[in-house]
Amino acid sequence: MAILVTGGAGYIGSHTVAELLARDEQVVVVDSLAQGHREAVLGGKLYVGDIRDGAFMDQVFGENDIDAVIHFAANSLVGESMLNPGKYFDNNVYGTLCLLEKMNKYGVKKIVFSSTAATYGEPERVPIEETDRTDPTNAYGETKLAMERMMRWFDSAHDVKFVSLRYFNAAGAHENGLIGEDHDPETHLIPVILQVPLGKRAHVGIYGEDYPTEDGTCIRDYLHVSDLADAHVLALKRLREGGESAVYNLGSGTGFSVKQIIEAARRVTGHPIPAVVSERRAGDPAVLIASSAKAKRELGWQPKRESLDVIIGSAWNWFKNNPGGYESKE
Ligand code: NAD
Ligand code: UDP
Repeated sequence: MAILVTGGAGYIGSHTVAELLARDEQVVVVDSLAQGHREAVLGGKLYVGDIRDGAFMDQVFGENDIDAVIHFAANSLVGESMLNPGKYFDNNVYGTLCLLEKMNKYGVKKIVFSSTAATYGEPERVPIEETDRTDPTNAYGETKLAMERMMRWFDSAHDVKFVSLRYFNAAGAHENGLIGEDHDPETHLIPVILQVPLGKRAHVGIYGEDYPTEDGTCIRDYLHVSDLADAHVLALKRLREGGESAVYNLGSGTGFSVKQIIEAARRVTGHPIPAVVSERRAGDPAVLIASSAKAKRELGWQPKRESLDVIIGSAWNWFKNNPGGYESKE
């Protein structure tokens, strides 16, 4: 039986594919390559196309014996979602509807799904637990919440079991040095910071210094991408063992401010990395920190690469060796 990984040529998807392959799973990847990279898929079968394309997805489901889906394919930029929410509702919400309908058509009953801390919005307390209020402050988070809700109804009507993983901030790169983060445009904090020592930008912009935090900059919970990948393998195991649908936070439980991340990057790279304070970015909550107690308890998940220097160090290793991202390999 094969696992269908949508968005498997993307950042987190490719790291999860690597973990699945290491466990001898049969992997089928669907990716439009709108953001992903062919070279990021280290094995399995890659189909290039869009999850909203019905005939294409019939081919994928028809040609493979798929027993479960891991669904990464989506757009995920907070800032862009505020400017162009329609793109997000179309690709994320409608895309997921198309996928669930195909799963239904082909009798596939298990899905692991990429959700996000952005479903919570401005939290009432930290660390955030899964039962806390969800009230997104950006369109991206709203689409992910809608996707989660859609899956609940597919569960009640069609017995499709899902595990929704609400990731906090994914960062770092695989220790094999072959895959890492490569987005165009790059907007995530750690890769943007590392563009400074790479000589690709003169300084990093800090989006707001007037948040109600100790140093005035936003606090986030950064998690190594390979620890995230491990959680997907465990979520799949839960579903294969007949587990009920569930939602889990995935984070380190520790928050770092933008300034602390810049300081850590200076330490890791030995570069002064100038920083300039600019305007707030629309839709950004001040503090997001996860409680991952439920994932640890129920999935047996244990992050192994928790140190910030290890996380940033692995990203730095990838960027130093591949300053142009995957294009460096061509
Ligand atoms: P990414 O952009 O690197 O990967 C997404 C992949 O999906 C890309 O390769 C893209 O080409 C593909 N894709 C997008 N729309 C598609 C479509 N309609 N059909 C087929 N392929 C399509 O993003 P990522 O950072 O790896 O994130 C993966 C998932 O995790 C996303 O759903 C994102 O919302 C979620 N997430 C990411 C983070 C993070 O910190 N990066 C945090 C929380 C949640
Ligand atoms: N950020 C920043 N400068 C940048 C990119 C991001 O100050 O060039 C901040 C952003 O406002 C947020 C944090 O860094 O508070 C993490 O942003 P990122 O886009 O990496 O992840 P998000 O939390 O939005 O998923």
